[in-house]
Amino acid sequence: MFDTLSDRLGTALAGLRGKGRLSEADIDATAREIRIALLEADVALPVVRAFIARIKERAKGAEVSQALNPAQQVVKIVNEELIAVLGGETRRIALAKEPPSVIMLAGLQGSGKTTLAGKLARWLKGQGHTPLLVACDLQRPNAVNQLQIVGERAGVTTFAPEPGNGVGDPVDVARRGVAHARDKMYDIVIVDTAGRLGVDAELMQQASDIRDAVRPDETLFVVDAMIGQDAVATAEAFRDGVGFSGVVLTKLDGDARGGAALSVREVTGQPILFASNGEKLEDFDVFHPDRMASRILG
Ligand code: GDP
Repeated sequence: MFDTLSDRLGTALAGLRGKGRLSEADIDATAREIRIALLEADVALPVVRAFIARIKERAKGAEVSQALNPAQQVVKIVNEELIAVLGGETRRIALAKEPPSVIMLAGLQGSGKTTLAGKLARWLKGQGHTPLLVACDLQRPNAVNQLQIVGERAGVTTFAPEPGNGVGDPVDVARRGVAHARDKMYDIVIVDTAGRLGVDAELMQQASDIRDAVRPDETLFVVDAMIGQDAVATAEAFRDGVGFSGVVLTKLDGDARGGAALSVREVTGQPILFASNGEKLEDFDVFHPDRMASRILG
């Protein structure tokens, strides 16, 4: 991830090295190269446009710094703008004052929701919480079982509909799951919901119904960074159809070009809270915009 983008940005910025003063033409040329690098990395066009406009404006108006030469100044501006586009400050997960807090996961099938449920549960447990997983993906055969398996690996309990009870109603399971958590003193409920291969109205309605039933403290939109530009359209569909308070990027270990990571915050207005970078439960961390920007700039 980001290898090509890092290389391209590195080359664009290296062109400024050794210059005593930067002319407008120097800045324009560099901005053009940064633009191409971002577009090649699959960053959404409006995000690229706004990013380049800010870089140019700031680079042209840059104060003469005693400490930094012009090239370093531009690198600093690009770094700051990358951090801004990734969300600025690290946003911590919001928990309820009165437990149990409810975290609902939404996203397309295959985005990594179930795996994330296990990762999040394991991470929260490590922070001293007592999470309960609630299996509301009753659409996909085996989804409940898969959640139970990741729950076991994370060392947490999974609340699931009783076997032999038919398909069941996911809204009812969600509601009963939260009530169970309250009874048994679990302090965080992680609700796994059904995903479809593509965005559809029924999926959105079901997720909205679950949301209305359990009123989550956080609704996390889980998105596979490998799907590139499609991530933006999917995020917009979920924002409009269900609404969410934060984003989790998955599969950052893959060879995606990075566009989803760089676009989703600006496009949806919601912060990236966590990042997943592998199939193992420990391949997971809080998302830090500044660290990601440093990785991109190499
Ligand atoms: P769901 O359908 O949204 O619940 O998705 P799953 O959790 O079942 O994940 C779909 C596939 O992606 C599984 O094979 C997971 O092992 C894999 N997966 C999930 N997260 C990651 C990740 O961060 N990196 C990689 N490489 N694979 C992942």
